[in-house]
Amino acid sequence: MKLAKRVEKLPPYLFVEISRKIAEKKAKGEDVVTFGIGDPDIPTPNHIIECMVQAAHAPANHRYPETEGLPDVRKAIAEWYEKRFGLTFDPAKEVLPLIGSKEGIGHMALCFIDPGDIALVPDPAYPVYSIGTMFAGGESYYMPLKEENNFLPDLDAIPDKIARKAKVMWLNYPNNPTSAVADLDFFERAVAFATKYEIPICHDGPYSEVAYDGYSPVSFLQAKGAKDIGVEFHSWSKTYNMTGWRIGMVVGNARMVDALMRVKSNLDSGIPQAIQFMGIHALRGPQDCIAQHNAIYQKRRDKLVATLNKIGLRCTPPRASLYIWARVPAGYTSAQFAAKLLDETAVVVTPGLGYGPSGEGYVRFSLTTPDDRVDLGIQRLEAWSKKQK
Ligand SMILES: *Cc1c(COP(=O)(O)O)cnc(C)c1O
Repeated sequence: MKLAKRVEKLPPYLFVEISRKIAEKKAKGEDVVTFGIGDPDIPTPNHIIECMVQAAHAPANHRYPETEGLPDVRKAIAEWYEKRFGLTFDPAKEVLPLIGSKEGIGHMALCFIDPGDIALVPDPAYPVYSIGTMFAGGESYYMPLKEENNFLPDLDAIPDKIARKAKVMWLNYPNNPTSAVADLDFFERAVAFATKYEIPICHDGPYSEVAYDGYSPVSFLQAKGAKDIGVEFHSWSKTYNMTGWRIGMVVGNARMVDALMRVKSNLDSGIPQAIQFMGIHALRGPQDCIAQHNAIYQKRRDKLVATLNKIGLRCTPPRASLYIWARVPAGYTSAQFAAKLLDETAVVVTPGLGYGPSGEGYVRFSLTTPDDRVDLGIQRLEAWSKKQK
């Protein structure tokens, strides 16, 4: 049997070694504290689940959904964008629900990338942008996100020759894994760059509602001209703790939305309808869960940032997202340091290299760890640090 090159070319799963070690420790009965995965620990709010339970009983929801989603889910998405960002979209043409935004992001590559084409991809980043590009036969040109540039890509550093060849640009703010945020000025510069070179922009913004200290992130689509050249992916996953239900959205440029719709209609049959009703209710129902959850994450953030800086893992408190992006001490690669922490403290963090070459030198802590586990992790890190001297 011979597998296709796109499968052979998949990078080795960086977390294999860590996963093996975690399994080993658990088998020995050790209590592993994980700051690894960005998956909200707090359950989906009850009123949203209730809506889904009722919808599950309706026979109409037992049949194939439509790829383009229920008209009302598209309307609810457009209403939410209007209420939250003051932007208006045509629910029929500029909005499409997705089976989680990951699904749409992966398939979007098929809309723009032919074999040999180039995608502009941030580094470090959520891996789906570059893997989707590779699946479509294209190559990623990495835009390094450096601390000295506030983890924004330096658009002027992209060679003219590359920009002329690029078929799509990926951006993501508030950012995973660096937790950096972008303002409208940056998005407007990105739109100007994309307009000059006629490169569609796909902005991935699932953390726009996960923010701290009263900060409220902007939408890429608020930038002047953004809708002429781009779309924004968004998701219920992080806003409403709904990662397990698989529902996301894309909003913006009608041609781009239509292209994704055409690709998807040949691959999937849409989101289970009971889950679409859940999604509608989440967007239109009470929103107080968002502030409540952010207050919980913020407390965890403050405790962790204080400890990490105390023990020599330099980091700044994130203004948004679910992550702390911390410098590893000198003398270690990110993978070595993550392995050492796991070995010596049974605390799991994600090595930055897993998100791209520029992630080297950092580890990511996720704030989706229950409070008592955060406290236990902090105790272990502090005790461990004392022993280092
Ligand atoms: C969590 C996350 C997503 C997507 O989530 P879905 O659950 O597929 O909607 C997309 N992009 C980034 C950067 C993420 O961190």
